[in-house]
Amino acid sequence: MRAHDFIELEEKHGAHNYHPLPVVLAKGKGVFVWDVEGKKYFDFLSAYSAVNQGHCHPKIINAMMEQAQILTLTSRAFYNDKLGPYEKYITEYFGYDKILPMNTGAEGDETALKLCRKWAYLKKGIKENNAKIIVCENNFHGRTITVISMSTDPDSYGGFGPFTPGFVKIPYNDLKALKKALEDPDVAGFLVEPIQGEAGVFVPDEGYLSKAYKMCKDKNVLFIADEVQTGLARTGKLLACDHENVRPDILILGKALSGGVFPISAVLADDEIMLCIKPGEHGSTFGGNPLAAKIAVAALEVIKEEKLAENSAHLGEIFRNELRKINSPMIELVRGKGLLNAIVIKPTNGKEAWDVCLKMAGNGLLAKPTHGHIIRFAPPLVITEEQIYEAVEIIRKSILEFS
Ligand code: PLP
Repeated sequence: MRAHDFIELEEKHGAHNYHPLPVVLAKGKGVFVWDVEGKKYFDFLSAYSAVNQGHCHPKIINAMMEQAQILTLTSRAFYNDKLGPYEKYITEYFGYDKILPMNTGAEGDETALKLCRKWAYLKKGIKENNAKIIVCENNFHGRTITVISMSTDPDSYGGFGPFTPGFVKIPYNDLKALKKALEDPDVAGFLVEPIQGEAGVFVPDEGYLSKAYKMCKDKNVLFIADEVQTGLARTGKLLACDHENVRPDILILGKALSGGVFPISAVLADDEIMLCIKPGEHGSTFGGNPLAAKIAVAALEVIKEEKLAENSAHLGEIFRNELRKINSPMIELVRGKGLLNAIVIKPTNGKEAWDVCLKMAGNGLLAKPTHGHIIRFAPPLVITEEQIYEAVEIIRKSILEFS
């Protein structure tokens, strides 16, 4: 079968809820993927930052294969011998009392919202069913009904109502709006992405997170960071909040927590918050399974052992500098932090971000437009300096082919 045969199969038998680039991938290793015809590409999406450790990282794959032959799933009806060690490891790694393990990023967000509401009623003294959570316009936290109830993107929420109440939407990167919203005594939490990834890699002003955190503390409101995309070394620090020395009250992780081999997410918090949820009040059949526990420890070890945060910070600087040197009217703006970057494309001669992505794919680099005119560049963090220059050359060549 050739590429178009696989595409046809998906068209015919799969729901049409995605619009992929016409590339059919069959293999991945490190920063590269290969299509069914054997063509090699730089992967500059990394499965939306799930593959920070690179495709099929040997240490993570070995951990998975070893555990897969011993025990994969027990449910939480019983204890297992991998979950406890994982919980100890990850809570010490990030400096929290407790973890609540889940599977997808959206579930991590749902968990954080439930935790925040429980805390509001049990600890803050908000009247039952009155708790509000402040969220930001243009957020992306996943696809469940409650999560899209927070969305301001009609593509995400349109036609899916009725929605979950209890959210106050304010502009991102706007401390004045936050201050005003915090005046409501029924506000229990502020949920924020330290950098808005899906919105197009919007980096807030320096000081935004630390000031927002302080404002939340002054009002006894929980600061909840969704680091599903920005976390785990992607932005040049272990967490994007580390850039401003902010320690979220609730931290949500996902994606690269497994290095991209398995859906694993986690919510971290201290006892005061986490112990508000009691047995039987929340959970997941697969959350905290021994296979995930083993994989997550390996994935976290790789991040430290291979100094991925340092690499991301260093190469991110080079990458943005080199992109800014590309002399094309098509590039309106380059922005990002670490190896989470984007260019804003100005349509030229009828060519848009999608066309640029097709051209780059033809030249051996995969990236995907977000919101039509923005292209995100987020390679695996194991990329080398030499490879960054090679990749920039492909991007330059592809864009200049339109001039
Ligand atoms: N939160 C953020 C910030 C994300 O970027 C995403 C996915 O892109 C999610 C949550 C949802 O994660 P998942 O697709 O694993 O549910």
